[in-house]
Amino acid sequence: ATPTALMVGTGRSAKLGILIKNGEVLEAANTIKTVVFDKTGTITAGHPQVTDIVGDATQVLRVAAALEASSEHPLATAILNRAKTTVVTPAKITNFAAIQGKGVQATVDGHAAFIGNDKLLTDYTLSAAEQATMEHLQQEAKTVVIVGFAGKVIGLIAIQDAPKASSAGAIAALKREGLRTVMLTGDNARVAAAIAAQVGIDDVIADVLPGDKADHVKALQESGPVAFVGDGINDAPALTTADVGIAMGSGTDIAIESGGIVLVKNDLQDVVRALELSKHTFKRIK
Ligand code: ADP
Ligand code: MG
Repeated sequence: ATPTALMVGTGRSAKLGILIKNGEVLEAANTIKTVVFDKTGTITAGHPQVTDIVGDATQVLRVAAALEASSEHPLATAILNRAKTTVVTPAKITNFAAIQGKGVQATVDGHAAFIGNDKLLTDYTLSAAEQATMEHLQQEAKTVVIVGFAGKVIGLIAIQDAPKASSAGAIAALKREGLRTVMLTGDNARVAAAIAAQVGIDDVIADVLPGDKADHVKALQESGPVAFVGDGINDAPALTTADVGIAMGSGTDIAIESGGIVLVKNDLQDVVRALELSKHTFKRIK
């Protein structure tokens, strides 16, 4: 690879909003067999909205808003936006603790409370009706969080984050190139499968704890070089482990620092363009 050819390649791509950190990254992109995607903010727009509240909405939102007030998770933003229109007197919160990949626990108005997924249900139980409702909402591609308060499940909140308009087309183009596509997410398997079906992704690995994303990338590397596309704090280790890490420009600083390629326009079509550019560049200099 001659430096001039590489600079031509990366200079032109920069104008398109595809920032490639160095020539090695561009060369590695030419060898990729599998493209692994984070879900939230990568395949989906990352603007989650509350769509359904099961239970007494006022009480559910009051407890949920107290719990999410100190959380930095995208789901927290959706819940706080919805609560703004309903909650009049905020609840009192102490002992806040964020639990990675699961949710939030705290004391609310003097009682133990939590919000999050079923991994936090140890001291609580869902009724058969609540379980059925939750599964139904998840099949509609909605992320469901459970709200527990004073020893009881008081409700469910369903949150939707639609795929970006270009995600399905980009995934189809990668598949036409003979690449395997995989979704890797901390969300529930039913939600992940529903989103994967909407965008045409082949394989889904769901319920992944934040610390385990990089290990899944390593396992996938056994069948050849892997590109990982993500945006979150919890994607940083996977971005560095992958043969090519591709970060969304809208992502967290740590994701952007960990990526060898940064997509300024947050558009998955630019994953296709980056891989094509690599192919053309390395064909020309051979
Ligand atoms: P990802 O970024 O891949 O969606 P996360 O590890 O951030 O995964 O979250 C996984 C799951 O943990 C969420 O789908 C949700 O069920 C639960 N969770 C995490 N943080 C929160 C929070 N602040 N409030 C409610 N649920 C949460
Ligand atoms: Mg994400």
